[in-house]
Amino acid sequence: MVLDTATLRFAFGLMALALGVLFYFSAYRTTRSPYSGWWCLALLFFLSGSGAFLLDGTPHQWWANPLGNVLLVHGGVAVWAGARSLRTVPPPRWAFTGLPLVTLIASALDNPATNVWAGGPVFLGAMGLSIGLGSRELWRLEPGYSRVRIPMAAAAGAVSIFYFCRLIAFLLDGPGGDTFDTFFGSEVTTLVTMVMLVVVSFSMAGLSSEQQTRALRMVASRDDLTGLLNRKAFLDLAAEQMADTAVTKPSGVLILADLDHFKAVNDTYGHAAGDEVLQAFALACQDTIRSTDLAGRYGGEEFVLLIPGGTADRAESVADAISFRLTQASKPDGPQMPTVSYGIALYDAETPGLEAVIAAADTALYAAKSSGRNRTARSDRAG
Ligand code: GH3
Ligand code: MG
Ligand code: MG
Repeated sequence: MVLDTATLRFAFGLMALALGVLFYFSAYRTTRSPYSGWWCLALLFFLSGSGAFLLDGTPHQWWANPLGNVLLVHGGVAVWAGARSLRTVPPPRWAFTGLPLVTLIASALDNPATNVWAGGPVFLGAMGLSIGLGSRELWRLEPGYSRVRIPMAAAAGAVSIFYFCRLIAFLLDGPGGDTFDTFFGSEVTTLVTMVMLVVVSFSMAGLSSEQQTRALRMVASRDDLTGLLNRKAFLDLAAEQMADTAVTKPSGVLILADLDHFKAVNDTYGHAAGDEVLQAFALACQDTIRSTDLAGRYGGEEFVLLIPGGTADRAESVADAISFRLTQASKPDGPQMPTVSYGIALYDAETPGLEAVIAAADTALYAAKSSGRNRTARSDRAG
């Protein structure tokens, strides 16, 4: 089978263009997910990079060949950046400037006018590295993401390994060697890259709409002012947590918190200052609880916490820590932070439901209020 490089590159370019256009309109324009944006950019880089190589063998080779290397490395970095965006972590700056810059320098110093493999080892290493890091990001994504991440991670991993094999063959055998030409030359690479583009683009559409759904769900579940869970999201997640017998026997503690004389804060310092106090309280909660606990705004100046596996003693120390943090949050020019009353109720496998636990905590909270505020009261009955 004889496939000449120019024809293959042309076919590749056409395919990348078609995928890029389709992708732009079907995934990016509709979802605006960062992931699909990065992928469009990656396709553009791959396309223009291969395009630049079409000038090899012409008088333009001296600039087109290093440019092609740099564009392709940018493509690799865009793949990595896209995978990273699924964890909402931005790409490190050195990736976008460092890797292409090193590639550019290596290519420019390696007789690019006559040498079509100018800067070869650095280019191959940079490609292997950036795409490999992209693959690693995809593997590391939480399993909650749909299964399409697996073929994508595998495809990116395979291409990364392929580039590292090319690097080794290049170093051992040289770009003119038989092994390199047969297994790792431009023809094979173009074919491998084509397969990867198809796999990734196919999976991508699913993944980017999933990313968008997650972002929407995140917004819908949060209270605007405090960033804590809103009432509905808290109730949903807490009910889920209490019903989850698979992990542990469900038992734990729920805390209702109500700021003392909060109306006075509004009346004395104004509504905006009141909002600041609510935010300070939410921050105090977030700084105190663990990642497995839930914190929500139950309404107005009432908050609710769920501590799975927690005891009444633990709930009391959580309440004390939150109140302490809130006192610490007072600023000289800001409002005086109010004290807080807490009601706590335990739950276990026998508890009839979340409403019963909340009702028990509410009764305890009422007791805390009527016995003088700024204290914690325990419900005497399990929820
Ligand atoms: P108690 O110690 O008995 O809980 O007294 P309190 O003043 O805290 O309770 P009350 O229920 O009388 O007043 C709650 C106030 O919280 C009334 C309402 O205007 C205010 N409030 C509710 N939501 C917000 C909000 O989002 N921002 C601000 N600034 N105030 C709010
Ligand atoms: Mg209240
Ligand atoms: Mg209150």
